[in-house]
Amino acid sequence: GRASPPLAALSQVLRLERSRRSAIVFPLQKLERYLAPGTDTARFRLFQPELTALQRAEALFRSDRGHPIDYVSSAVRMDHAPPPALPEVCFIGRSNVGKSSLIRALFSLAPEVEIRVSKTPGHTKKMNFFKVGKYFTLVDMPGYGYRAPQDFVEMVEAYLQERHNLKRTFLLVDGVVGLQKTDHIAVEMLEEFGIPYVMVLTKIDRASRGLLLKNVLEIQEFVKENTQGCFPQLFLVSSVEFSGVHLLRCFVAHVTGNLPTVEA
Ligand code: GDP
Repeated sequence: GRASPPLAALSQVLRLERSRRSAIVFPLQKLERYLAPGTDTARFRLFQPELTALQRAEALFRSDRGHPIDYVSSAVRMDHAPPPALPEVCFIGRSNVGKSSLIRALFSLAPEVEIRVSKTPGHTKKMNFFKVGKYFTLVDMPGYGYRAPQDFVEMVEAYLQERHNLKRTFLLVDGVVGLQKTDHIAVEMLEEFGIPYVMVLTKIDRASRGLLLKNVLEIQEFVKENTQGCFPQLFLVSSVEFSGVHLLRCFVAHVTGNLPTVEA
């Protein structure tokens, strides 16, 4: 298999000096010191696992003979989806938000997993199912755009509404440009369905600290004022630098019921 990229494993991150290490593992907390005094930071650290929890989560994302991580199948309709046997999470976001890069980063310790992308215009958009041993499934939902075809909208809506084993939806938002009109449409849909979701801010290595702070504060305020089902803490990630990826693995492990002792 391919070699894992640097910092894909916690053991590599732990070798960094302290402040760099915390920037990789807890990128949101790293921003706290740049906030105006008196800013309420409770929502910055709702999910703040210990190293042991991060390590247990990482073990789930590391494949071996007794713990296979596989691409299972693709589906264009709900009746093509695999049986809902395991707890499930899904990743949605508009095209180019960095979704396939993030899923590749999450699965970088299972280099045999092939993350398929169907980006050719006109190519059928599919839901791709990945099975993580006997613990959970992860679904890569097709990227949505401004003028998503009706059959695509119906497939995504049917999935989100009907999938009983779906534990959490991860809505990816571009950290450089912040919430866009299409993201608002996705939020409205998730709110209407009343399902729990989380916002993930991508490509944070490409945003200056000032821009990132502005986007984080704006989105957290939006979440607080306008949503019911969204987890109040944002997750910040860079699939290039691996920041936030270890924490996100841990949150996925937690919401799928595979880290019973961690509080969120
Ligand atoms: P998708 O359409 O949502 O699957 O997006 P991709 O994962 O293909 O990413 C879209 C573009 O953004 C590609 O050129 C990626 O290389 C780039 N990209 C994705 N994630 C990151 C990131 O974390 N940092 C940076 N700098 N670029 C990224």
